[in-house]
Amino acid sequence: MTVLLAPEVVLDADGPRRGLAVELDPEAGVVTAVGPAREGAVPMPGRVLMPGVTNAHSHAFQRDLRGVVERASPEGRDDFWSWRTAMYDLAGRLDPDAMEDVARRTYREMRAAGFTTVGEFHYVHHRPDGIPYEDPNALAMRVIAAAEAEGIRIVLLLVAYARAGAGRPPEPGQRRFCDPTVDAYLERLEDLRRRVAGRPRVTVGAAPHSVRAVPRDWLEAIAAHCDRHALPLHVHACEQRREITECVAEHGVRPVELLHRTGALGPRTAVVHGTHADNTEMDLLAGSGATVCACPATEADLGDGYVPAEALHRRGVPVCVGSDANGRIDPFAELRELELIARRTAERRNVLVTPGEAGPTPGLLRAAWVHGPRALGLPEARMAPGAPAALIALALRHPRIAGVADAHLAAAVVFAGGPELVRETWIGGRA
Ligand SMILES: [Zn+2]
Repeated sequence: MTVLLAPEVVLDADGPRRGLAVELDPEAGVVTAVGPAREGAVPMPGRVLMPGVTNAHSHAFQRDLRGVVERASPEGRDDFWSWRTAMYDLAGRLDPDAMEDVARRTYREMRAAGFTTVGEFHYVHHRPDGIPYEDPNALAMRVIAAAEAEGIRIVLLLVAYARAGAGRPPEPGQRRFCDPTVDAYLERLEDLRRRVAGRPRVTVGAAPHSVRAVPRDWLEAIAAHCDRHALPLHVHACEQRREITECVAEHGVRPVELLHRTGALGPRTAVVHGTHADNTEMDLLAGSGATVCACPATEADLGDGYVPAEALHRRGVPVCVGSDANGRIDPFAELRELELIARRTAERRNVLVTPGEAGPTPGLLRAAWVHGPRALGLPEARMAPGAPAALIALALRHPRIAGVADAHLAAAVVFAGGPELVRETWIGGRA
């Protein structure tokens, strides 16, 4: 049984179009036809139907740090590392029920806000003392169950974590994240892949946490495994200057260079943040076909700095977005922030413009619809037969975008839009 929708406006990379009906197959979870409106279609007056946004980097449980971490410490120096201490306290208190509960709340909000796919960078694996649960993938399975219950498509990026840093064993707060060997990690990864096989909205990828948290031979082994099985490989890199200093001290090269040398940098790689990547590293990113996942709201919140958006754009490096710590869940803000960061830095307007395009909007929508899915090993989001049925309907007459001419509608959605525009979502073709 297909579903036939007749929105007032259909919006995708071809711009806004009127008078169309979109047919979805809920069983196959795909768009089956886009054509002239016809008899039997569900009328959707006042709605803009468009593909949902891919959220390529999330830590669902960190949502419960909202507000908690906005208090100055007595020492008077708060940064990423002091934030991390608060995050470890929260991670240390999670049990399987609490993990599933917070993931459900976060995914519900994501879906309502316009994200239809999430890449969950999942690193809380074991009991607080580091001993595995009876099922060593118990927490990953709870996160997947939460996504399935809320109907959001998930790519569970199973994190590998080994140590506190070069030559330093895990700190007590990190024990739950760690596997004893890379083989033990890869075994858990394969177990997870077997268990989700055949589930329509679940896939799995690998995620060495960072060059700080795994040694070189783990990077090599995980990269080889991902090559063999064509899996996405996500890794935090160049988020913090201290991480770069430590990487140079240990390996003699910067983080992205190390990823390159260990075989971990390729077209299926997503480098999360890339905030402090230098020119050599950005050239390597461009040459490898890797994607950079920027998380502007979180990078601002943590005082990381900001993604070198213009330099990456000039090199043709694909960039996607993530809601990361989930302090605010707003796909529209994450997307426009790529361009706004570039404007603040360059002190001019309309910076991330691809030759032949009128402005930055098409490129920002590619971050949502092309680069995000690609980073997660998924097909790109389009309004065309065969594309995933992961769609959102926006209120055309909401004050944020009301009265905007069709010619400017896509730009208004990106530059003025917000979660409050989202009225309905279809994921896998189901409302
Ligand atoms: Zn992260």
